[in-house]
Amino acid sequence: MLATDLTTVLRSASLRVTRPRLAVLAAVHEHPHLDTEALIGLVRADLATVSHQAVYDVLRALTEARLVRRIQPAGATARYEARVGDNHHHVVCRSCSAIADVDCATGHAPCLTASDDHGFTVDEAEVVYWGTCPACSTLSTTPANTHPRSSDDFSPEGTR
Ligand SMILES: [Zn+2]
Ligand SMILES: [Zn+2]
Repeated sequence: MLATDLTTVLRSASLRVTRPRLAVLAAVHEHPHLDTEALIGLVRADLATVSHQAVYDVLRALTEARLVRRIQPAGATARYEARVGDNHHHVVCRSCSAIADVDCATGHAPCLTASDDHGFTVDEAEVVYWGTCPACSTLSTTPANTHPRSSDDFSPEGTR
């Protein structure tokens, strides 16, 4: 997304346009589902002097303004994405915590009907699909993985 568009996005949410906000918003747009540490690394490549605290503060402001959605699968660090305003879900890898978007099964919240809503007006069902990502599935079925090995006979790219 262009910097001018990001500026418009910030202004539309009545947020003051600052370089850290632009840099964080750009990073979240370009790299969905990263955690705070990874985002700090990306933002610093662009804006070397930005502090950890500044990035935390920006993420909080962007999340509160609903420009960014914060997701936190159980046992994983909080991740951020710019895909907001729809009811999409996530599939999470149990072994490496990779995350991918999954469109809502019905297109709108709540996409699951409670078997008993106890009189509540239900407006959302929080759905997380858990499983094993393709990369981890491949690793676990590699024959070399089925017997003990020392760490130095692992050559992922076949470099030896
Ligand atoms: Zn995985
Ligand atoms: Zn997502």
